[in-house]
Amino acid sequence: MKSCPRSIMTLVLFLVLSALAHAADAPFQTHRTQNIIFVMTDGLRWQEVFTGAEERLFKRQEAEKKDLDPARIAFWRDSPEARREALMPFLWHVVAKEGQLFGNQNKGSVAQVTNGFNFSYPGYSEVFCGFGDPAVNSNNKTYNPNLNVLEWLNNMKQYHGKVAAFGAWDLFPFILNVKRSGLLVNAGYEPMTFGKPTPEYALLNRLKQETIRYWAGEPFDSLTLETALVYLQREKPRVLYVSLGETDEWAHEGRYDKYLESARRADAALKTLWETAQSMRKYRGKTTLIFCADHGRGNAPEEWKSHGEKIDASKNIWMAFIGPDTAPLGERSQTDRVTESQVAATVAAFLGEDFSAAVPKAGKPISAVLAGGK
Ligand SMILES: [Zn+2]
Repeated sequence: MKSCPRSIMTLVLFLVLSALAHAADAPFQTHRTQNIIFVMTDGLRWQEVFTGAEERLFKRQEAEKKDLDPARIAFWRDSPEARREALMPFLWHVVAKEGQLFGNQNKGSVAQVTNGFNFSYPGYSEVFCGFGDPAVNSNNKTYNPNLNVLEWLNNMKQYHGKVAAFGAWDLFPFILNVKRSGLLVNAGYEPMTFGKPTPEYALLNRLKQETIRYWAGEPFDSLTLETALVYLQREKPRVLYVSLGETDEWAHEGRYDKYLESARRADAALKTLWETAQSMRKYRGKTTLIFCADHGRGNAPEEWKSHGEKIDASKNIWMAFIGPDTAPLGERSQTDRVTESQVAATVAAFLGEDFSAAVPKAGKPISAVLAGGK
């Protein structure tokens, strides 16, 4: 080996040290994610996500009639693995192979809400703002006082006007404080009036008017999903947020069949959004998909219908991630606990931005799903 002049050795040392220093910031520096699609489905339990339908919650239990139960035919299988694949095929055939899932407590992976309330407004606020705020303690239509990560991104030049939120629930303009944030939020039965009018929006807006209002605060998920899909294809936002609500509504009504069907449809929505994005040059290979719930629910047989402060089990949730920066570790086991308060900073970190520097009390990014994470 030839001996090197001292100055070259110094230069090499300098380059090595700066590379190491750079690697220390890896989650914020080396990401490939340029866009985020973030989907939530309200109050879907981790038990169904990881083990599929629960037998005792099917309606027709009498031996001679139970095989006629359509929900049982659709979703009952002999093993938990087969049941969860029947319920959420995209999650288990694609995300569990190419991405990561947290929250299977049977395998030592715990995902939880930290706000203590275990219901929707405090949950979504924790997701977007990065912490549980004791003052955000109702589902009332009051404007959220806290900065949220969508607004924080939208206030940066490179994301301005490229962040959009679509929520089935009509509380989203309040949760995301549109009065202050100026975010594009289309929610509830509100017609889509942002951007250029299109025949698709016109049709969807008429359907929102003409379809029976089974729930006062939210339409069926299909209307919200399709509006978001039109927006995705036309406007190509860098951050698209979609919230579905039926899983929670049907559970409160004790309709396990419809609750399962809604979970199946939420999985199909995820597939549609993902495949649509992958078919577009702007998104292909540069987009991370995040999927989670705002709260869990109680245990079967009775408490599964509800959630809240008094139902401790409803603090348990689940989360899924897939994208170019997330190592394909699949269903995680024996992990550190992850929390809803980490989601905001994780969304930002995928894009190379540091939300917890802006909001110090926000939970830290989930490093396991970011570039270089394990
Ligand atoms: Zn609820």
